Amino acid sequence: MEKTDIRSMTLPELEGFIVERLGDKKFRAKQIYDWMHVKLVQNFYEMTNLSKNLRERLASEATLRPLQMADCLVSKIDGTRKYLFRLEDGSIIESVLMKYKHGNSVCISSQVGCRMGCRFCASTLAGLERNMTASEMLGQIYAIQKESGERVSNVVIMGTGEPLDNYDSAVRFMRMISDENGLNISQRNITISTCGLVPQIYRLADEHLQITLAISLHASNNDKRKSMMPIAHKYSIEELLKACKYYYETNGRRLTFEYSLAGGVNDSPEDARALAHLLKGFMWHVNLIPINPVEEREYVQSDRKSIVNFKNNLEKYGGNVTIRREMGRDIQAACGQLRRRYMTQLEKKEV
Ligand code: SAH
Repeated sequence: MEKTDIRSMTLPELEGFIVERLGDKKFRAKQIYDWMHVKLVQNFYEMTNLSKNLRERLASEATLRPLQMADCLVSKIDGTRKYLFRLEDGSIIESVLMKYKHGNSVCISSQVGCRMGCRFCASTLAGLERNMTASEMLGQIYAIQKESGERVSNVVIMGTGEPLDNYDSAVRFMRMISDENGLNISQRNITISTCGLVPQIYRLADEHLQITLAISLHASNNDKRKSMMPIAHKYSIEELLKACKYYYETNGRRLTFEYSLAGGVNDSPEDARALAHLLKGFMWHVNLIPINPVEEREYVQSDRKSIVNFKNNLEKYGGNVTIRREMGRDIQAACGQLRRRYMTQLEKKEV
């Protein structure tokens, strides 16, 4: 029988499991929850205030879906740490710890691979292997907090995968990481990024979470967006922005629009003007991401001057614009590239 993934359970769910399945007392659930989500242990034997018998029963019926660190690279430039983790089934995933003045931010993956097919992205090259469980998403933060000794204050779900394509686990993860019985990271410090799955944006709006929703827009018209992102064939920019309006009206939370700048593709003054026009009526924040060139992809980064011009042009229209700082350039911290390199090397070895 498959073991139960109890680290993905909320406290009330865990109480049900302990009482109904194991026939033990309800208060044990709180102790176990604390070991998993505050003390961050990765096996049952470390749960020393439980009887040996209970620990053994847990080990035979449940799993914590532990993550093993396969590699950790530390940037000499800015201290960014890039992690490769091996999941219980051997899948390899990546996460990043970035240190900012305002705190430590962890970028986590939400799927093993991705099926969205964005043309500039390394994470989607080999397609989707599987969804991740909430416990595997939590486990990335727990493992990083333990390994680095740093308290994680911000979470961005911007690693490999499309989180809204793994909707239930992503929402469960956000509720649990912000749960006062766990690490209690404020929802205001959580950002979830999506390529724009419209029905799920409506659903997410109705969850009433205080998180930041980031939309990967990347283009100022539908034709250009279609050439960069297959999802644009399914939902038009107009449909996407309508969902964003609903999200804003329902939650009062300002959205972020991500715009990756590819040289000669979407970085002209006309693009900036058209983008500002699209966002009219929004309280908008655009985060410009200089494209990270990926070996297998044809896109190149815009030159510095075009990036700055784009920002200035956009600002004229009254919104808030930032350029994402490149972190950990020396350790391939960008967008799925370390995992990609690791997997390619593995394939070469296996051949
Ligand atoms: N699936 C989510 C999370 C993806 S990664 C989404 O689509 O939003 C986070 C951001 O990095 C997205 O905006 C994504 O489009 C962008 N991105 C991916 N690969 C990139 C690359 N090589 N250069 C610049 N931005 C990239």
